[in-house]
Formats: sequence, C-alpha cells, structure tokens
Amino acid sequence: MTMTRIKVPLLDLQAQYAPLRAEIRTAVDGVFDKLAFIGGPYVQALEAELAAYTGATHGVGVSSGTDALLVALTALGVGPGDEVITSPYTFFATAGCIARLGARCVFVDIDPKTYNIDAGQIEAAITEKTKVILPVHLFGQCADMAAVNAIASKHDLPVLEDAAQAIGARDADCRMAGSLGTAGCFSFYPSKNLGAAGDGGLVTTSDDALAHTMSIMRNHGMEPAYHHEILGGNFRLDGIQAAVLSIKLKHLDSWADARRQNAEHYRELFTERGLDGAVTLPWVRPGVHHIYNQFVLRVAADKRDPLLAHLRSHDIGCAIYYPSGCHTQPALKDQGFKAGDFPQTESAALETLSIPIYSELTDEQKHCVVDVIAEFYGA
Ligand SMILES: *Cc1c(COP(=O)(O)O)cnc(C)c1O
Repeated sequence: MTMTRIKVPLLDLQAQYAPLRAEIRTAVDGVFDKLAFIGGPYVQALEAELAAYTGATHGVGVSSGTDALLVALTALGVGPGDEVITSPYTFFATAGCIARLGARCVFVDIDPKTYNIDAGQIEAAITEKTKVILPVHLFGQCADMAAVNAIASKHDLPVLEDAAQAIGARDADCRMAGSLGTAGCFSFYPSKNLGAAGDGGLVTTSDDALAHTMSIMRNHGMEPAYHHEILGGNFRLDGIQAAVLSIKLKHLDSWADARRQNAEHYRELFTERGLDGAVTLPWVRPGVHHIYNQFVLRVAADKRDPLLAHLRSHDIGCAIYYPSGCHTQPALKDQGFKAGDFPQTESAALETLSIPIYSELTDEQKHCVVDVIAEFYGA
C-alpha cells in the first residue's frame, strides 16, 4: 500500500476560523463601536450564555483559566497553612495557583485508565487542614465526580473543578462540567475546545455568595466604586474575547461531536491495522460524554519518544501532555515531594502521546496518522 504523505498539524485553528471570519470581525467592530473593552455587555452576555450552557447559576468572566483557579481558590478561603487536594498529572496552573496562595498541594495519584484523580485515594489524604478538593477533568473527560462529591459532602468540603480542558463534557449522571462541584474553572486559551483570540477564563457556580465574591475580587475587591472591602486584583475579561467566544460557543457542540467522531474513526483504524496491542487508546468511563480536548495514546515507555520523533519526521503534529508530574517541578520543590511519590503519574508521563483530534481533521489525515504509526510498528 502506498502511503499518502500529507501534513497533519496537531491543531489547525485556521480551519476553524475561516468559516466564522466575517461574523467574528463584525462582532469585534461592535466592541469598538460600543467601547465595551473591559467587562460590559459582551462579557455579561457570555457569562449568562455559559451559565446556561453548563447548568450553573452564575458565570464570572476572568482573565485566564489560571486566574479562574486563583480567584475561585481565594474566594473559597484558601490561604497559608491550608491544604488543597488535587492530582499531580495536570497542567502546572492547577498546582501553581495552590502554591501561590501559600497553601500546600496534597497530591493524590491518578487512575491510570482515565488520567484523572483516583477518587479511591482521596479520603486518606484529608486532614483537618484540607480546605478544597480540586479534581481536574483531564483531556476532556470528567473525573469521577459522584465519588469525589460523596467524599466531599461527608467531610463538608467544597469541590472546585478544573474544567479548563472539559467545556461541554458530561459526567455519567449527564450533568455538565462546571456544574458538578461548588465551582468550575474554564480556560479560553486558544487551544482549548472553546478558544478565544487571546487569554480568557470563566468560573461557574450556583452559589450566589461565592459568585458575588468572585465578581468583585476580579476587580480589586471593589464595591461600590473606590471602596475595597476584600483584597482582589485585576482578573477581568476583555469585551473582544467575550464577543469572539459568544460566536464560537454556538458551534461548540458540533465541534465536540466532530472530535468524538474522529475518536471513533481512530478506534476503527487502529483496530484495522492491528495496532491494539502496541497502542492503548483513550479509555472512556461508562456513561460519560468525553469531548476529547486531547486524544492520548499510551505506548511502551521505550517506544514513546522514538514514535514522537517518527511522527514529527512525517509532518504529523503530536505532543506530550505532560512529560512530568507537577510534584517534581522545581518551582514546587518547597512542597516536599520527590520522584517516585506518584507512580501512576510518573508512568503516564513516560508513556503518553497526543495525536491530532481537532474537528476539521479529514479522513485522509486520520488515515495518514494511523499509517505512519503502523509503519513505525511494522504493522
Ligand atoms: C489550560 C489549563 C489551565 C490554565 O488555563 P490558562 O487559560 O492557560 O491560564 C489550567 N488547568 C488546566 C488543566 C489547563 O489545561
């Protein structure tokens, strides 16, 4: 069989932008015409749309996914001496925000099948200093929130979802990420499933008091004008970002469906090529709605980097999310962890590899990706 040689980027934002170009440009003109640059009607509209979309009561637009975590953790009262339970296999921001508040990251290892926090190990990590449980919905699949919430309510602890990679994902009970805990944090970093034209983020919650605290905290804790009751900062969302996001939100579900179809197509292609033994495909917890921010392969540790190099040499975009756990990051060395503390995280960091899954991926591109992987394995 002759192999088709085409370029397959890990993500192609041009393909997403092209059909929306005119609509987005008109909306951005509207932001200028109304001078609605920071906060204002576009931000308020997006907040209402995303609250409705996720099923939470409130949406609080903020400057990034990282700031969503920082504002939510601060509003939940996390500070020096407190402990926050989370998993170490995540983007650094999750742990970084805990540490920036002077709190301690209490890491719980991941379930090796889903890469999400192993809920069965959470209870043993709870102490009288525990302030928040912070599950991450990694790669677009919800953590086991029924299990997390059961432990949290038993110990009367708030749950903050890091849903940065999981907008539109649903747990087994059909509820959406962002409405599953006390509050949920979203990122609009351009490579997320709902990406802005720059940085942006949002916190969802159905707790009225928490929503109010966060909405003033993002603006220096100011209410009324020039009265500062609580210590906040500048964590505001721009009107241009909100205007772009409201347009893209209308397409989010169809984009997620296309990602899900790509995932199913990959499963067929990997099986057809007899790659099932060499490559473990993403495992989906029964009943959950996975939105595939990433499609993560798992291979033998000694094959991972050579496979990455092979794919790249054939112009196929791929990446490692993440090459190490947060617990061994130099910036978190004061947290007191060491290599070996979280074996499932450390194995995943050596064995995983993400391949293109974006909505506009063509059949030819998917065939090409699988052909190149099959060639690597001599299949
Ligand atoms: C992207 C991401 C963040 C941070 O979002 P930014 O908008 O880049 O600040 C936090 N947590 C996770 C899991 C992420 O993937």
